[in-house]
Amino acid sequence: MSFYKEVEKFKDFDMEKYMDELTHEEIKRSIKKDKLTKFDFLNLLSPKAKDHLEEMAKEAQRRSVQQFGKIISLYIPMYISNYCTNECTYCGFNKNNKIDRKHLKLNEIQAEAIEIAKTGIRHILLLTGEAEGLVGVDYIEDAVKILKKHFDSVVVEIYPLETEEYRRLGNIGVDGLTIYQEVYDEKIYKSVHLGGKKSDYMWRLETPERGAKAGLRSINIGTLFGLGDLVEEAYLSGLHAEYLTDKYLNSEFSISLPRINEAEGGYKSKYILDDASFVQFVLAYRLFLPKAGINISTREVAEFRDNLIGLGVTKFSAGSKTNVGAYSDMEKSTPQFEISDNRSVEETESAIRERGYQVVHKDWELIV
Ligand code: SF4
Repeated sequence: MSFYKEVEKFKDFDMEKYMDELTHEEIKRSIKKDKLTKFDFLNLLSPKAKDHLEEMAKEAQRRSVQQFGKIISLYIPMYISNYCTNECTYCGFNKNNKIDRKHLKLNEIQAEAIEIAKTGIRHILLLTGEAEGLVGVDYIEDAVKILKKHFDSVVVEIYPLETEEYRRLGNIGVDGLTIYQEVYDEKIYKSVHLGGKKSDYMWRLETPERGAKAGLRSINIGTLFGLGDLVEEAYLSGLHAEYLTDKYLNSEFSISLPRINEAEGGYKSKYILDDASFVQFVLAYRLFLPKAGINISTREVAEFRDNLIGLGVTKFSAGSKTNVGAYSDMEKSTPQFEISDNRSVEETESAIRERGYQVVHKDWELIV
């Protein structure tokens, strides 16, 4: 069975009626439960739950400290190529955009790695656009081998691979995968992915499972808020994380909440996730998925990220740049999106410590 069965079941669900009939008493009961059902989770995502954010925050904080302690792990993204054969309407790297493209050679990846390692960060997220002819698995493998010399943990956020290909990467030391469904609503998915392999909804939806079957240790999923109905997307991404957690006991799953940021191509979002709803969704994820990590990237502004510390988040990106070759000051390429938190790694670390939390650079090391 694939998670698609859950997506299909949801198509017949009358969300409007459910939300109308939901009571504040039911929401309060959901907050207090030790193990939340799918409906409890939905109750916490509901617009009515906005009246209960304080109680949700207290519970989320308590359970978070119990499960993870007072820590925030840091990672840094590194883009190695922004060529792409897909046509995602919301992305600056869309093949139709006239942007400055760059593809790093192996010696340039090495130069980037050396610069990034100077920040003290030990956990790197390797990203590329989807251009298999140029950025094939052999190239990714070579890049990973270089990065493994400089970092303890290498996670990939690249185009979806076959299980065997993930296994190949796992064998040379990749310990995780980030793959966002972008939007769970199948109709919207087709309307924003106009061409290229990414227009195959099922291929993408089943990617986290292929990564887990290949034995990757950590898998991070999420929806890109801004493409579809906010509550429905938060709900389905939470259910997806629960489904994976229950089925693949050897992997750890985490969830991110990227919201659309300004990109080349000028995508105008119809669904705006405001800050209060963002916080509400973080709290709902924390209560529904007690063991899942929650990642917050530099798409969010510094003050907002700092205010989320203590509410259940476990991982921050820091010192991020979203253009290829940016860390070693190569000739500039166009960034994928604008960063909102421009602090250095050091400044981010200080902010975390000021909140009474510890910074973790190394929570895992794979020996291969
Ligand atoms: S979201 Fe990914 S696949 Fe789509 S255009 Fe951007 S880089 Fe390419």
